[in-house]
Amino acid sequence: MHPKKLKKLKEKKLAQKTIEELFQRAEHDAKRANEHVRKARNLMMKYKIRPARTIKRKFCKHCYAFLKPGVTVRIRTRPGHVVYSCLACKKFMRFPYHSRPGESLRKVR
Ligand SMILES: [Zn+2]
Repeated sequence: MHPKKLKKLKEKKLAQKTIEELFQRAEHDAKRANEHVRKARNLMMKYKIRPARTIKRKFCKHCYAFLKPGVTVRIRTRPGHVVYSCLACKKFMRFPYHSRPGESLRKVR
């Protein structure tokens, strides 16, 4: 592979790690949570990183607010999907259920 391309790939990997760290920090730092999300989002755009499924549920796709269950987001379960309502912008997001092992959300009957 071209050395320049390899460097870019390394940077992307590092950015991915930083994004995860930023979201972890946001979890424990409510005051600056949105700031961490903004930084993470900048990295995602710069390196064209698609957020992991776990990260996708941690920020509002409309206003990019950090989503903390019971605090900044209300979560309701519906057959086949989960509805996240962002309390900051009052918009909704739907996430389908996956009954794969390791999935934190249980399947509803
Ligand atoms: Zn929102």
